[in-house]
Amino acid sequence: MSSSKVYYDYSSFSNGTSFMDAYNNFNQVPNLNFVEKLWASYYYYMNNDLFATGLLFFVTHEFFYFGRCLPWAIIDRIPYFRKWKIQDEKIPSDQEQWECLKSVLTSHFLVEAFPIWFFHPLCQKIGISFDVPFPSISQMLLQLAVFFVLEDTWHYWFHRGLHYGVFYKYIHKQHHRYAAPFGLAAEYAHPIEVALLGLGTVGIPILWCIITGNLHLFTVSVWIVLRLFQAVDSHSGYEFPWSLHHFLPFWAGADHHDEHHHYFIGGYSSSFRWWDYFLETEAGPKGKAAREAKMRKQAEKLQKKTI
Ligand SMILES: [Zn+2]
Ligand SMILES: [Zn+2]
Repeated sequence: MSSSKVYYDYSSFSNGTSFMDAYNNFNQVPNLNFVEKLWASYYYYMNNDLFATGLLFFVTHEFFYFGRCLPWAIIDRIPYFRKWKIQDEKIPSDQEQWECLKSVLTSHFLVEAFPIWFFHPLCQKIGISFDVPFPSISQMLLQLAVFFVLEDTWHYWFHRGLHYGVFYKYIHKQHHRYAAPFGLAAEYAHPIEVALLGLGTVGIPILWCIITGNLHLFTVSVWIVLRLFQAVDSHSGYEFPWSLHHFLPFWAGADHHDEHHHYFIGGYSSSFRWWDYFLETEAGPKGKAAREAKMRKQAEKLQKKTI
């Protein structure tokens, strides 16, 4: 019998050591959906919750990061898609992509593979649950929306700080090596930057749980996957007529972040456009034109007052 705390009552379970045995046991538990059964079977089968969480998060990160990068790497090789490339004269060379891949993999194994093993004990300490059944979908969606908004705020301020003098020179410059980004370049960054901006992704759910006492590890994993997709897509270098920001005008997307890599100044947020809009830090000619129009309006107003 497994010692996992993923479920509270194994008394009706039959013995067996394979993953399928575990799944067949959870299949008998009423009111569990397919994903909950898979999740519970995994923990039950692993029989070591700390190791199971560490492995799950490491594999999830690798699988979804590179899985999401792959279509962009393929699209880069198909001339048909060139018409939607934002900086169409700059297609990353094989050499550039290979060097980026090596660096990202090194960072994953050296910087992230270590702290990931402390995640389960931390979850237990602050009360992030991992048992089945999961919380309701509406609760998960609400928490995901909060994480997106808060992470974007964290990202805006720390990213803006990283563009300041010495921080840029010694830390953030590495990420700006590619003036025309590509998917794989999303996590191409100095280890300090990976830790600092990564803290926004992982630290916000932790803080949320400390304050509310209500968070499930499955929600955290969905959040990390969505945040990975957001980061990879914003570095893709492609702007399609069906890109999300055409339907959600406050969504940043590749259109927003490509300008940041192109012009180096402005466009500091990750998921949304509001911080850059209200603090007048939008990048590129479009941002400059908007700022100038705003200044002109203010000057005209002032002139009218003095007449
Ligand atoms: Zn930057
Ligand atoms: Zn970037």
